[in-house]
Amino acid sequence: MTTDITIIGAGLGGLTLARVLHVNGMAATVYEAEPSPTARSQGGLLDIHDYNGQIALEAADLMDEFRGIVLEGRQAMRILDPAGNVLFDKADDGTGGRPEVQRGELREILLDSLPAGTVRWGHKVTGVRPLGGGRHEVTFADGSTIATALLIGADGAWSRVRPLLSDATPEYTGKSVVETYLFDADARHPVASKTVGSGAMVVPAEGREIFAHRERDDTLHAYLGLTEPREWFDAIDFTDGATAAARIAREFDGWAPELTALITDGDTAPILRPLYALPTGHRWDRVPGVTLLGDAAHLAAPNGEGANLAMLDAAELATALAAHPGEVEAALAAYEQAMFPRGAEAAALHGDEDRGTGSADNSVHALIAEFAGDGPTR
Ligand SMILES: Cc1cc2nc3c(=O)[nH]c(=O)nc-3n(C[C@H](O)[C@H](O)[C@H](O)COP(=O)(O)OP(=O)(O)OC[C@H]3O[C@@H](n4cnc5c(N)ncnc54)[C@H](O)[C@@H]3O)c2cc1C
Repeated sequence: MTTDITIIGAGLGGLTLARVLHVNGMAATVYEAEPSPTARSQGGLLDIHDYNGQIALEAADLMDEFRGIVLEGRQAMRILDPAGNVLFDKADDGTGGRPEVQRGELREILLDSLPAGTVRWGHKVTGVRPLGGGRHEVTFADGSTIATALLIGADGAWSRVRPLLSDATPEYTGKSVVETYLFDADARHPVASKTVGSGAMVVPAEGREIFAHRERDDTLHAYLGLTEPREWFDAIDFTDGATAAARIAREFDGWAPELTALITDGDTAPILRPLYALPTGHRWDRVPGVTLLGDAAHLAAPNGEGANLAMLDAAELATALAAHPGEVEAALAAYEQAMFPRGAEAAALHGDEDRGTGSADNSVHALIAEFAGDGPTR
């Protein structure tokens, strides 16, 4: 079987690409490893920026649907010190350019906007090889194959498409986050709820950091950042939730109890997420018939931009393909020329070094500048 445009990965990047192609009258098939749209919880709030993610949603003709899922009031931001003192507190006055949505709801909007059958679930790519003339063969875990004239890797950090273009592999950043959830927080966790406030809260410190935000239904979702080697985390048994939570809480000894409650009062077992990144400025020479977008192209330590960039990459790639009918190579070259510096710039401007892995003082100042509106917000 030969398909014209093949997208690997039904994350926000791959789905945005399929949607913007569809809006421009071009069909694509998306192959996704997960067995169904509901196979994995898509937890987490994403702020969708007016300078990248929202531009993509406009190209996708989905701004009305997007506005319908925005969680009002969640752009509030506060910065605390480990003793619980509030250093900065900005209410959501409705004028911010970063409305917050649940990632799963955004993904649903994109899925609902695609013609039936566009996404082929349960298709895990295990191999890719060039066939010559810009065509590629894709092999799936069940042994089946397809051939395609245009292959796009939107398959995230551990992309199986990337090796066609580059030898780069993600490296551990030196930092991991541990995620916790506190449900129905106003009623069940009132102190933590008041501390986090109505939007997001961050507590930066040397090698330790807490970021938390309020999701739909008063769920508090916290990310405990710890700058430690992988082996340090390997010594903690995360299959034993209570013991792991107690071990992580020990690392925040001396912090205000209303902050450590985000660990000790968690309603779910803590989830470990080691953070990996590709080299900043990762790029490749043009290879006919294949390209990458989103994390597959420029995975960075979380900096609030990754999903937004994946969506903008996707919209620009689709627009370039529509603008160069029958000239795939010209479209891919134009897309990559803009995408390479954009990924590098985002990593440099919003880099993790400003947020808790650097000195605590620098980190606090950078954050306050950013959220007060005079820092590196784009
Ligand atoms: C803790 C954390 C917090 C974050 N917070 C934010 C934030 O607040 N704002 C923000 O903008 N970004 C944030 N990010 C970054 C963001 O999640 C990513 O940059 C974004 O999801 C990238 O989108 P993508 O479509 O490129 O890849 P992904 O979302 O990773 O999607 C890739 C898809 O490809 C599929 N896939 C993978 N391998 C295969 C295969 N072999 N065959 C078939 N399918 C495959 C996967 O199942 C997945 O569905 C955060 C990241 C982390 C880790």
